[in-house]
Amino acid sequence: MRFGDGPESSNFEDRTGGGGGLNLGGGLGMLLPLVASRFGIVGILILGLGYCVLTQLGGGGGIFGGGGGGGEKSTLPEEQRRFLAQVLGSTEQVWGQVFTQAGSTYRPTTMVAYTNYDQSGCGAAQAAMGPFYCPSDQKIYIDPVFFEELSRRFGAPGDFAQAYVIAHEVGHHIQNLEGTLDRAQSAQARLGESEGNQVQVGVELQADCYAGVWAARSGALEAGDIEEGMRAAEAIGDDTLQKQTQGRVVPESFTHGSSAQRMEALRRGLSSGNPSSCNYAR
Ligand SMILES: [Zn+2]
Repeated sequence: MRFGDGPESSNFEDRTGGGGGLNLGGGLGMLLPLVASRFGIVGILILGLGYCVLTQLGGGGGIFGGGGGGGEKSTLPEEQRRFLAQVLGSTEQVWGQVFTQAGSTYRPTTMVAYTNYDQSGCGAAQAAMGPFYCPSDQKIYIDPVFFEELSRRFGAPGDFAQAYVIAHEVGHHIQNLEGTLDRAQSAQARLGESEGNQVQVGVELQADCYAGVWAARSGALEAGDIEEGMRAAEAIGDDTLQKQTQGRVVPESFTHGSSAQRMEALRRGLSSGNPSSCNYAR
C-alpha cells in the first residue's frame, strides 16, 4: 500500500509500553467462555478476526504477562505507528465520503494499540485475543504482535494483509453505526446455536467485504496487495483454522466463514467498491 503524505488519523491511541504487567492467568481456555458468557453474543462478535487466533494461541505461553515493567514509553516502531495511523486516516476519508453521499455523517472509531494487556469497554483485552472491535466504547483494540503472528504463523505477510485486518474491524464499527450489530445480537438471542453462528458468519463476511470496499476506494493499492489480502483471508477461514487446530472441520460451528467465503467477500468489496454489494448481514 502507498499512502504517501496521506493524513494520519487523530483517533489513534498508542498505549504500547504502558501496560503489560498484569497477568490474568488461566489462559485462553478460561478466557473464551468468560468473554462469551459475560458479553453474550457481542462478546463473541467483538473478537472479530482475533476470535480465530484465540484457538491458535491457546495456552498463552510467552504472550501473557511477559511485558512487565509498566513503563510509559511507546514500544511501537515509528514506521508501524505511521502505517496504522494512515490506514485509520484513510478509512475515515473513505467512510466519511460514503456516509456524506448517503446524507449522513460518519463518526469515526478510535484505534488503541496496546501491548500484552489493556482494559477495553468490553472487559480485558489481551494480546492472544487478537484484534477486536468493542461496540460499547466504539474502539478497536490491537496488539501489534498479531501482525507477526499473521505473517509467521498464518503465512500471510505484507502491509495489505495488515490493513485488511484493521479495515475489517473498522467494518464492525460501520455495522455498529448501521445498527447491524444490535440486530444480529437480538437475532442470535432468539436462535439456536448453529443458526446463531450463521448470523455471525454473515456479520463477519460483511466486515470482510467492507474492508474490500475501503481498499478499493483508498487509492493506496499497489501491485501484489490484493494477493496479500487474499492470502490473509484464506489463512483465517474457519475451515482452514479448524483443520490446523482440531484436524477436522465442523461447519455448524463456523463463526467467521470458510476460507472460500472470506476470500469471496473481500473480493466482492474490492471489485464493487460499493457497500451495498456487501449484503451478507441484515
Ligand atoms: Zn470480525
